[in-house]
Amino acid sequence: MTGRPEALFPLFAGAEVLPGVGAKSAQALAQIGVTRPRDMAFTLPYSVIDRRPVATIRGLAAPLVVTVEVEVEAHIPARRRGGPARVFVRDAAAELQLVFFHARGDYLEKILPQGARRLVSGKLEVFDGIAQIVHPDHILRPEEADQLPRFEPVYPLGAGLTQKLMAKAAAGALARLPALAEWIDPALKAREGWPDWAEALRAAHAPQAQADLAPTAPARARLAYDELFAHQLTLALARRTARQSPGRATLGTGTMSRKVMESLEFAPTGAQRRAVAEIAEDLASGRRMNRLLQGDVGSGKTLVALLALLIAVEAGGQGVMMAPTEILARQHFEALAPLAAAAGARLAILTGRDKGAERAAKLADLASGAIDLLVGTHAVFQKDVAFHDLRLVVIDEQHRFGVAQRMELGAKGQAADVLVMTATPIPRSLALAQYGDMDVSVLDEKPPGRQPVRTALISTERLGEVVAHLSRAVAEGRQAYWVCPLVEESERVDLTSAEERFAMLRAALGEGVVGLVHGQMPVAEKDAAMADFVAGRSRVLVATTVIEVGVNVPNASIMVIERAESFGLAQLHQLRGRVGRGAAASTCLMLYQAPLSESGERRLQILRETEDGFRIAEEDLAMRGAGDVIGTAQSGLPRFRIADLERQAGLMAVAQSDARALLVQDPELAGPRGRAARALLWLMEQDRAIRLMEVG
Ligand code: ADP
Ligand code: MG
Repeated sequence: MTGRPEALFPLFAGAEVLPGVGAKSAQALAQIGVTRPRDMAFTLPYSVIDRRPVATIRGLAAPLVVTVEVEVEAHIPARRRGGPARVFVRDAAAELQLVFFHARGDYLEKILPQGARRLVSGKLEVFDGIAQIVHPDHILRPEEADQLPRFEPVYPLGAGLTQKLMAKAAAGALARLPALAEWIDPALKAREGWPDWAEALRAAHAPQAQADLAPTAPARARLAYDELFAHQLTLALARRTARQSPGRATLGTGTMSRKVMESLEFAPTGAQRRAVAEIAEDLASGRRMNRLLQGDVGSGKTLVALLALLIAVEAGGQGVMMAPTEILARQHFEALAPLAAAAGARLAILTGRDKGAERAAKLADLASGAIDLLVGTHAVFQKDVAFHDLRLVVIDEQHRFGVAQRMELGAKGQAADVLVMTATPIPRSLALAQYGDMDVSVLDEKPPGRQPVRTALISTERLGEVVAHLSRAVAEGRQAYWVCPLVEESERVDLTSAEERFAMLRAALGEGVVGLVHGQMPVAEKDAAMADFVAGRSRVLVATTVIEVGVNVPNASIMVIERAESFGLAQLHQLRGRVGRGAAASTCLMLYQAPLSESGERRLQILRETEDGFRIAEEDLAMRGAGDVIGTAQSGLPRFRIADLERQAGLMAVAQSDARALLVQDPELAGPRGRAARALLWLMEQDRAIRLMEVG
């Protein structure tokens, strides 16, 4: 297939083809993302107004929208300019007033002639004991009653848009719906009781009750599924393409990993063993690996990564591990160094700080194969960095790396296998949306012997007690992080508060005991402060959130978070995960500014209740919605018009397995359902999938 199917043309015309839409309203529609009939069809009402007429307003609990037939009794013009004009009317059993502001001339007498009967519909309110409708939405002659929809959909509006315009445009879009063959698995459709596509759209635009607006309403669920299915089909195509692209069979000998195992003071967890086995299998296959390693903080991802990297080295190749920041790259380097030494693998680090002759020497060693393993920041992928035989790329803490970017990396034809590690557990539905093209290994088991972190909520008023507690803990040889509040978006304000806190704690605890790191420090200073803390020279580290990801200082057993209520759940979980890594019992003190908002209180309570990152992630999604849990823009998480990842989480998993199954049954998408699915991809503008279909 080359080009969009003709059947879809009517939906991809300009918005002006819609009834009632001119150049100006087309512009207004564009502001809410509607530029074609297709977009209008997918813009669903979010509410519905019941306009079924009642005989009288008597006994109704205002305020509410009513539709009632009335007789016009009298007009009371506005007494002053800008004041209200009133029309006294009566229904079968009660009196009410229709109120108008800025009515011009004899307009009111014309539409509401004295003695005439009219059907009026609008919001009934009681003001000073008088029932009234201010500016009724509809005024009709009784014989025109059938023009009034009994259920009126309510659309999202933007500037310059009215419900009337939206309803008319939507009706126009629905009139253009082509007949499309079904792309949903018939068994699934029957089981769920879903309507056909066009029927679903018509039903979704014509809700008859609030229940029809629920994500579980069959029409809505079906349309949501269409979006998810199209997205998963794209991911499944990408996955297939990646797996088909010639990979290299990388087989380990086990010699190096055995030495590492012997050097460890602990045994790997079952989850770690499983993950390594899954990775080893991918590496050994001729297919390109594209795998996600998901594990909570402290679940031991580093060891898994190292064992994977060593397979590449044992096979005579090289491996690289990329971290998002200099600090983390350095930490990885330090954590890996003893293990690599035990294995007999040559490890090096490359960051933006490497310059001149030293850098040139490292590049030469990489190119010659004298370096087996490289750890670093983005610097490892600079243009002039050439490897002798790169087999495995590990990307750490990179949930900022979007689907699109990952696919581009794949499209560059880099033959290396890819392992992405996420530090933050994310809910399953999001994982499927974001990483649906990847295979996933989960570290769902923490290394044994971890002590739970005691989490306490403390009002800021008790700051003095906290400092006293800290002072005792430091005297006992313990170490602590002190995270300063995210006062505002501005780094500068955060900085001021961090510096102030630093000064205050230094005064209280003593010179030299307290260190400071923040995002705006020169890298060298930051590293020096970190190094002091890691080595135990400083006992308390005051920080902005730069320590959020990955930092590992086992002796640190106290985490103080100021203004904890200003942080998100995932962030708090990450921060707390910095402690509880050693043998000592750990504490997390969350200082909050009273009074807490309801959501602030819920967030902090959840953290007190559980340390399970996956549960926290699910709660986070439920509280904030998908877009915020992983910022849409950076995450590459697709934006769905209808599907709601939070409330339709289950559908995403179904869509993934169905999409993968369809590609197995009909690899060319050439059968009837396959061709229908192609039309869906065009309909949903899955350009990437379309490109993949055309090459594949
Ligand atoms: P993360 O998944 O957060 O990256 P790390 O790989 O940094 O976790 O591991 C956290 C700590 O747990 C490290 O000090 C590491 O040496 C230790 N560790 C890893 N695996 C085990 C294990 N199986 N048993 C005990 N300790 C482990
Ligand atoms: Mg880590």
